[in-house]
Amino acid sequence: MSAEDGMRRFKHDFANKADSLQKQIAQREKQMLQLETDLKIEREWRQTLQNDLERERETVAQLSAEAQQINALKKVNTDNGLLFSDLSQEKNISLLALGKLYVGSFQGGQVWLKDKDATHCKLCEKEFSISRRKHHCRNCGEIFCNACSDNELPLPASPKPVRVCDTCHALLLQRCSSNTT
Ligand SMILES: [Zn+2]
Ligand SMILES: [Zn+2]
Repeated sequence: MSAEDGMRRFKHDFANKADSLQKQIAQREKQMLQLETDLKIEREWRQTLQNDLERERETVAQLSAEAQQINALKKVNTDNGLLFSDLSQEKNISLLALGKLYVGSFQGGQVWLKDKDATHCKLCEKEFSISRRKHHCRNCGEIFCNACSDNELPLPASPKPVRVCDTCHALLLQRCSSNTT
């Protein structure tokens, strides 16, 4: 092989090598571009995710604020509910009192006195205590001590003898005797 041939061969190889390197570089550049595009897309995606996350956080904050408001409202509602049940209970009590009043008016035309309204016996005016208990007269509905209501008479409302005060006892006996005579 002559030196010229060798030189030509070298040039040819070199050209081939350079060409293939060029091609490789071009390919690498293309890959790099592709990667850059991917990275850009990745970054945008991440930004989108970040924005989403931010939005989620805001939503969560808003929701928890709303939840707190709802809880506060619930508490108020519960309080109102309790208040309401208190009111309806009171209403029931007044209905009961009304019923008693009705019964009382049927019996003797008087108001059925509430236990807590009476502190003293209507007749002897002694103060009520644990030893001096309150007793309702079934005729007039007033409250007396035991000594002043230690009588039992059958009334139109109850065939069984019931407690009546001394006043009513005397009155009823008088009415009874005047009826028979
Ligand atoms: Zn008394
Ligand atoms: Zn009475």
